[in-house]
Amino acid sequence: MKRAEYPVEIQRLIASLKRLPGIGPRSAERIAMALLQSRQDAATELAQALAEAVAGVGFCPRCGFFKGGDRPCVICGNPERDASIVCVVEQSTDILSIERSGAFRGLYHVLGGKLSPLDDVHPENLRIDALLARLESESIAEVILAVGSDVEGEATAHYVSEALSGRPELKVTRLAQGLPAGGGLEHIDELTLHRALSGRRAI
Ligand SMILES: [Zn+2]
Repeated sequence: MKRAEYPVEIQRLIASLKRLPGIGPRSAERIAMALLQSRQDAATELAQALAEAVAGVGFCPRCGFFKGGDRPCVICGNPERDASIVCVVEQSTDILSIERSGAFRGLYHVLGGKLSPLDDVHPENLRIDALLARLESESIAEVILAVGSDVEGEATAHYVSEALSGRPELKVTRLAQGLPAGGGLEHIDELTLHRALSGRRAI
């Protein structure tokens, strides 16, 4: 005899939930049950919020950060930010990490990835042309390359800095690389230590 299963609608819901990051089969089932057995409107609210987010969230044509509806992006739309400094990041989510640090008050530019020929990511796949166009139309004095320090990140930083060369008035900087806060030297890998030494500063 065929074993009884959930109705197909529930199976579909569980399958969708399972595709979310960090949610395994058991959690997917638990969430589906909680949603269906909760007050009716809780599930409807979630469905509505999801549909609205999918339909209403886009990307800022200037910096590439998320933006909602027809409103300008919260960063480019803020007149108190310093528009003369642009911090170049790989992903939109990197912006939130930097914002949470509270250390930066300028604008951003999202590349949308990093150069990786093996994964078929080439310069034309990144928003490098859009960055060059911004340099033409905006008064930008400094570009900070805040891409990762892995091989692809280094290659991306190198490529972008080359693309920006020939503009003597433009200051191009790279995030300092060094030791993690609160640690001793014994657990630091050689490359990090090497970069920390070469990037040392006077105190
Ligand atoms: Zn923006």
